[in-house]
Amino acid sequence: STDESWKPFNSSRVYMADLESTLYYSLYVEVAAHTVISGEALTALKKYISVLSKHFPGRPVVMNLLKSVNSWLQSQTADQISYDALEDILDNTAQMPNAALPDDTKWVGCQGSQPHLRRYPCGLWTLFHVLTVQAKNSTASDPLEVLDAMKRYIHIFFGCRQCAEHFGNMVDSLVEVKTLSSAILWLWAKHNRVNNRIAGALSEDPQFPKIQWPSPEMCSACHTVTDNGEHRWNTEEVLAFLLTYFSSSRILTDYLE
Ligand code: FAD
Repeated sequence: STDESWKPFNSSRVYMADLESTLYYSLYVEVAAHTVISGEALTALKKYISVLSKHFPGRPVVMNLLKSVNSWLQSQTADQISYDALEDILDNTAQMPNAALPDDTKWVGCQGSQPHLRRYPCGLWTLFHVLTVQAKNSTASDPLEVLDAMKRYIHIFFGCRQCAEHFGNMVDSLVEVKTLSSAILWLWAKHNRVNNRIAGALSEDPQFPKIQWPSPEMCSACHTVTDNGEHRWNTEEVLAFLLTYFSSSRILTDYLE
């Protein structure tokens, strides 16, 4: 059962517990809402799992599971699969011995001051930021691979349908993304656009107000002021900051089983 006790955490760090919880929730709750997965949804799922198996900076047991799910999924040639069949592979029945996902969520850096705040949507943003950074570090060949998988996942599976609709309106500008670095910056900029739009909304956790991120306290070099006093981002500094902030070597493993 979910451990609901408050876990102290450093709000300027990424936690593996949140990333694994996000995988759990996405595969066991959101994808599970589709009894039969076909067409666009099957393509979306295949691309999502493929990106995870390549770029998720996970523990060996989690990577083994993702790789086993990926090879099963990519070998499916029928135009539809049942969620039950996928779940058998996720549950790893008679598959590899050292392959597993956690069996519940445990939010740490994505904890909310109330149960309906933060959590999975926070985890999903964090997951895709990490994946864009990992794709760059592994010099992936296609700069759009991660964001294309994200676009498709959100469109088909993300339970917040209003969020999916808003996000769908932003993805046209993906044509501008030509490099792995611009993919990282694209997602950062769109996330800030969302932060700006929903600041002060009911979905905001009062303990975690929406800001244009990172704050000057987190990265002063990221912020500059023009001669006429306007705020400007220094995108080179922002990129350097994101590469460090979301790097796999900096992810904290506190609270993992
Ligand atoms: P989140 O915004 O979830 O961010 C998680 C963490 O990422 C933050 O704690 C911070 O450490 C870091 N971060 C913050 N900004 C950035 C940035 N620009 N770049 C990199 N890292 C950053 N909610 C709505 O009410 N309406 C919507 O239309 C909506 N659309 C969404 C679309 C998508 C694709 C997703 C994933 C979520 C959407 N949500 C929407 C949910 C909302 O954006 C938040 O996820 C939710 O309110 C929880 O907020 P949070 O405080 O945990 O921070």
